[in-house]
Amino acid sequence: DYSKPARTRFAPSPTGHLHLGGARTALYAYLLARKTGGQFLLRIEDTDRKRLVPGAEEEIMEGLRWLGIQWDEGPDIGGPYGPYRQSERKEIYQQYARQLVEQGHAYYCFCSPQRLEAMRQEQQRRKEPPHYDGTCRRLDPAEAERRVAAGEPHVIRFKTPKEGTTTVRDFLRGEITVENRTIDDYILVKSDGYAVYHLAVVVDDHLMKITHVIRGSEWLPTFPLHGLIYRALGWEEPTWVHLSVFLKPSGKGKMSKREAADLMKDGYSIFIKDLKGLGYLPEAVVNWIALMGWSYDDHTEFFTMQDLIEKFTLERLNPAPA
Ligand code: GLU
Repeated sequence: DYSKPARTRFAPSPTGHLHLGGARTALYAYLLARKTGGQFLLRIEDTDRKRLVPGAEEEIMEGLRWLGIQWDEGPDIGGPYGPYRQSERKEIYQQYARQLVEQGHAYYCFCSPQRLEAMRQEQQRRKEPPHYDGTCRRLDPAEAERRVAAGEPHVIRFKTPKEGTTTVRDFLRGEITVENRTIDDYILVKSDGYAVYHLAVVVDDHLMKITHVIRGSEWLPTFPLHGLIYRALGWEEPTWVHLSVFLKPSGKGKMSKREAADLMKDGYSIFIKDLKGLGYLPEAVVNWIALMGWSYDDHTEFFTMQDLIEKFTLERLNPAPA
């Protein structure tokens, strides 16, 4: 229903350069928001403090601005708007994690890194998929609370139901059903107090009233977990749209430094800042990424941003790899 204003977001982790795949995700989210008279948000997902790359956040913002993909709001009043940053929302996630613990949907885990490492090795030896063995899941909640109050290091894990199945629905792929016993008791809050992506994304998309979560298909494996967290919190789920895989020219996997350098020699790059430096026009880049995973008809080859806003529909996204 394109008459209802959609609220969408681009939620990159500032862990590297903005590339064509990320820019495409941002573009589709932006087009849907503009088409429907809704809002497009930029949210920097920087809770994994070890993977932060200095300058990455600025590069993402510069790249989006260059492409003409401007976000509509931010935490500051009046603008110009900075992005939302998950690192500035730590307490919010902790509050919902505590709520999940109190309602029996999550639990404190005190297992040391050494114990977890020994467990991992043992599972590997037995050729089992890596998973948490549930030791702290069986602790008495009152005792766990006492240990937390006494300052013992801990994480918070999701108490995944171990029986039955979970069904989630992707706009492009339909229903996806998994056996709950295959879903691990994922960590929601780490020992440093920062939420992991799985919790932060659910809390933010809900609180920011996101109507359509448009993101890469690398999140399909943990999509059922996200559905379970929504349900545990009693929240209505957004429309989920997992885009096609965006392959590098030579096939699968992440582009190596070497491959990127070779591309540059030929006058190409997958990184937005390089394309800018190489003299590509932003309109050309937008047009190209728009058609990598979306189509309008078989003959129109050039679309301005305004054309794209008018013509874009989710129904014409293609789930096959681009
Ligand atoms: N921070 C995630 C990433 O960079 C975002 C996924 C999402 O859009 O929910 O891939």
